[in-house]
Amino acid sequence: MKKKLLFIVGGIVIIGLIGYVFTRVGLSQPQSQSNKIHVTTSFYPLYFFASHIAGDKATVYNITPAGAEPHDYEPTTQDVARIEDSKLLVLNGGKLEAWGDKIKDILKNTPTVVIAVGETLANQNIIEEGESSLDPHVWLDPVLAKKEVVIIADGLKQIDPSNAEYYETNAQALESKLDNLNQAYVVGLSKCQKKDIITSHAAFGYLARQYSFNQVSISGLSPDAEPSPQQLANVAKFAKKNNVKYIFFESLVSPKLSETIAHEVGAQTLVLNPIEGLSDEELAKGKNYFTEMESNLKNLRTALECE
Ligand SMILES: [Zn+2]
Repeated sequence: MKKKLLFIVGGIVIIGLIGYVFTRVGLSQPQSQSNKIHVTTSFYPLYFFASHIAGDKATVYNITPAGAEPHDYEPTTQDVARIEDSKLLVLNGGKLEAWGDKIKDILKNTPTVVIAVGETLANQNIIEEGESSLDPHVWLDPVLAKKEVVIIADGLKQIDPSNAEYYETNAQALESKLDNLNQAYVVGLSKCQKKDIITSHAAFGYLARQYSFNQVSISGLSPDAEPSPQQLANVAKFAKKNNVKYIFFESLVSPKLSETIAHEVGAQTLVLNPIEGLSDEELAKGKNYFTEMESNLKNLRTALECE
């Protein structure tokens, strides 16, 4: 009887010990997670690509908040602290981030690696009020976006060589999805009646070049640049002359100017998303870079009257 009791008590002690060990392991889990490599990105598309490549090996934090415009966002002191705490900062460059040069200066003598993925890929200028500026919107062309993925993966391999193979596998999965997206655009825009689109700001220059259509924008390279009455009159004149039936607007800025022109020339409005940021509501609905690129293709096919 005594032996049996001893056996039961011993069993309880062992179960208790096992439970304790499991709890300790469980408790140590969040700590090991916080020891993950920190990566920061300047705005949504780079965040989307970097977090897919990083998988569970790094924590990726996005600086421009959901629903905000990256062209005019200014990082807070907390953002700067987060960047300094990162091993890698992924920027677009080419003046997309107004704060890009300043942060490069701050990080000059720190171990944080900075890569500007769009800088080497941006090679198209836009003339605004007689001045030529480099167009930073490379992520909207799937072919250039694929090159961005390669550059981001190289950045991750550089700061964390022990997981290089893991990053390469994830990058290749993204690259093949971007190949499919490119193929969908090639096929979807191959037989179209029209050639011209009118957009809110000049974000689709690389996309237009890749698939051979023509972009006319109401604002310039940045959505907050107010167009002059003359500019608005020119866009309306162009729309009338070329019988443009759809005027595009985007979700992060007011559709007012697009609506005014559409009303004036008897056209309708449609969304063409420059994917510079998704709102919390859009993210909660499961929207992402690929769903938005697909719905852009659908609306482009409507506006360009494609078969
Ligand atoms: Zn833009």
